[in-house]
Amino acid sequence: MAKKYSSKINKIRTFALSLVFIGFVVMYGGIFFRENFLVMSIFMLLGLLCIILSTVVYFWIGMLSTRAVQVVCPTCGKPTKVLGRVDICMYCNEPLTLDQTLEGKEFDENYNQKKNLDHPNA
Ligand SMILES: [Zn+2]
Repeated sequence: MAKKYSSKINKIRTFALSLVFIGFVVMYGGIFFRENFLVMSIFMLLGLLCIILSTVVYFWIGMLSTRAVQVVCPTCGKPTKVLGRVDICMYCNEPLTLDQTLEGKEFDENYNQKKNLDHPNA
């Protein structure tokens, strides 16, 4: 089955957004433990931590965006950002590469990792 790819910046953005939701859910969960102040405080703190983390991630996206190379997608003609050697168009999910040697090859996110210790088969 074909793996679904999405642009890296979009992926990180989704991650940051889900962190905000997780943070709120965890904080809301703390309400169920209001008899126990310590447990409630832990939930509130964890929730707050998630929200702070998402802010950090959003900040990181901003940093990445400035480092990403802006290109015009040859497929949909929209300006998109390429992060690393290979990335996906934000609009039409077309694989894009900045590396001429990889051009025409099948898209593989592993091209971005020079040394991949978690996946030795890469
Ligand atoms: Zn495109």
